Amino acid sequence: MVNVLDATAKKTIEDAIRRSERLTSGEIRVHLQHYVIGDVFEHAKKIFRQLGMGRTKEKNAVLIFVAVKTHKFALLGDGGIHERVGDGFWQETRDIMLQCFRNGKLTEGIVAGVENVGLKLAAHFPRKVHDQDELSNEVTER
Ligand code: CA
Ligand code: CA
Repeated sequence: MVNVLDATAKKTIEDAIRRSERLTSGEIRVHLQHYVIGDVFEHAKKIFRQLGMGRTKEKNAVLIFVAVKTHKFALLGDGGIHERVGDGFWQETRDIMLQCFRNGKLTEGIVAGVENVGLKLAAHFPRKVHDQDELSNEVTER
């Protein structure tokens, strides 16, 4: 197990996930790696499957995948999200994250990404009364 971020940074991100999920039935996960070889989006899809993220009731899970040293990241949403929004859905989030990353603010960029995804999910998938935390908020690393 490699540590991409230290425990404090990971907790900051996990807190942001928890906060964001209070607004939506959607589920957000963050996966970090040092490197990615090949297509980052294809790799994100694999992680999405491995984390069982396709099992949410409303098909509204979002994976934020970041390969820190390769300087690549991907946002991947499940089918329920694609049914409701177009391809431009993630552009704003990508821009916000990129801005932070370019300034060397890795954790801040991921937190901003989580928060922005959370707001977008909340607009389309408001939280329900008996919401369940369907996917762990833990940041995974490889
Ligand atoms: Ca939930
Ligand atoms: Ca969750």
